[in-house]
Amino acid sequence: MPFEDELAAALPDQGLVTDPDVLESYRRDRTVWVDPGQPRAAVLPTTTEQVAAAVRIAAAHGVPVLPRGAGSSLAGGATATDGCLVVSLERMDRILGVDADERLAHVEPGVVNADISTASADDGLFYPPDPASQTYATIGGNIATNAGGLCCVKYGVTRDHVERLEVVLADGTVIETGSLTVKGVAGLDLTSLFVGSEGQLGIVTRASLRLRPAPDGAATLVAFFPRLSAAGDAVARVARDGLALSLIEIMDHGTIEAVERLQPMGLDRDAAALMLMQSDAAEPLRTAQIERAVELCDAAGASYTAATSDLDEGEMLLQARRLAGTAVDEVAGMAIHEDVCVPRSKVPELIGRIEDITDRFGIRSATLGHAGDGNLHPTLLVDDDEDGREAGLHAFDAMIGATLDLGGTISGEHGLGSIKGRFLEREVGADNLAVQRSIKRALDPDGVFVAGQWLG
Ligand SMILES: Cc1cc2nc3c(=O)[nH]c(=O)nc-3n(C[C@H](O)[C@H](O)[C@H](O)COP(=O)(O)OP(=O)(O)OC[C@H]3O[C@@H](n4cnc5c(N)ncnc54)[C@H](O)[C@@H]3O)c2cc1C
Repeated sequence: MPFEDELAAALPDQGLVTDPDVLESYRRDRTVWVDPGQPRAAVLPTTTEQVAAAVRIAAAHGVPVLPRGAGSSLAGGATATDGCLVVSLERMDRILGVDADERLAHVEPGVVNADISTASADDGLFYPPDPASQTYATIGGNIATNAGGLCCVKYGVTRDHVERLEVVLADGTVIETGSLTVKGVAGLDLTSLFVGSEGQLGIVTRASLRLRPAPDGAATLVAFFPRLSAAGDAVARVARDGLALSLIEIMDHGTIEAVERLQPMGLDRDAAALMLMQSDAAEPLRTAQIERAVELCDAAGASYTAATSDLDEGEMLLQARRLAGTAVDEVAGMAIHEDVCVPRSKVPELIGRIEDITDRFGIRSATLGHAGDGNLHPTLLVDDDEDGREAGLHAFDAMIGATLDLGGTISGEHGLGSIKGRFLEREVGADNLAVQRSIKRALDPDGVFVAGQWLG
């Protein structure tokens, strides 16, 4: 039977998309500077069995498969390749249950991250990993990229919260990994293997996630710095002091400008950096922690600090950070998003090197990031033409080099997607990469899953 007919039979109820106009919305993700291919079709399964059937049919016809969540990847992870079958998990969006006693949420992959905390709130629980895209990114995409977020500095990343997975493998076999117990060491840790595998080893069709008691408030600090080095010094002082803050974010001058242009909120446009810090510990600890953080920022040379224990006021302060990603996209013809991570003590040095690099290539940049994790997102702002793109990509490569020189990693949280695979060997070495490729061959010998292709 022809490929599309087999799919149509296996995925009733408008589960198959072949209309070119509709397919257009499955071609690209949020990595605007990467040119997408043309998928052959997309399927929108509603059950694990349908996912498995689609993978089996694609494998039998030699059609490569690209899993897709919300398409918010900034690394080209959900950018289609020519002739692929997109398996979009958007209709598998049920929260199957919240087990308050075990502090677990059981969910399908298309559930939007923020909805898990909303569903757990009545039980006084929340799901900590909070990417800035949490109101639209799906948990399947978060698991595939091992997503981080703003409060990961205290709570850890996605991998620290995934207990059990159901995964469809390249031949359509369905396996479960992990256990629902607090401890569990039976066999190899396949759960961790699938977390962060970027859709190259299997499709996540169900997940059991660890919840935490929800904080009952937060104290927030905003600080402006006249020099980037002073902001870096503040991060180092907070780390040395051992303050267990739940958020330490940084925005540089370019980002402050972009946010003020998008939505004026009275930020200091002369400042070199703005930092936001938050403590969500129980009182009186959280007020004490933020007061101490104010002292440390002042000692590092902040030009202005303000703190509040009021949750709504704190949210208003955080607005600048939440808007930042969108704001920087608006100020250039093309925005090339970077995601690099260095040891925390190297953050000021990396920021300095980024400035040198953008000067060298004659382009602008805006840097924001999770300073408490050493994870920076420099955005290269270039003209949307051949020269602009070329300058941006040279600067991109130079930034990767600078990160590796400083003992960092080429991706803190967005993943390698279709843009960074070529740098992997430089970071991990040939022997390590050979092991990774042999794992891919063992699980997907025919190369059914094409996402990224850095293991192919
Ligand atoms: C404004 C903005 C802010 C962002 N902030 C953050 C941030 O703070 N932290 C962060 O980590 N990321 C951030 N991101 C990046 C992005 O949101 C994350 O990578 C997110 O985890 C992707 O989820 P998604 O549902 O959109 O997945 P997609 O973009 O659709 O897919 C991402 C990857 O996961 C694979 N995949 C998707 N679903 C599955 C599945 N069920 N099984 C197997 N593989 C699958 C895809 O093949 C692809 O390789 C941000 C993006 C934007 C646009």
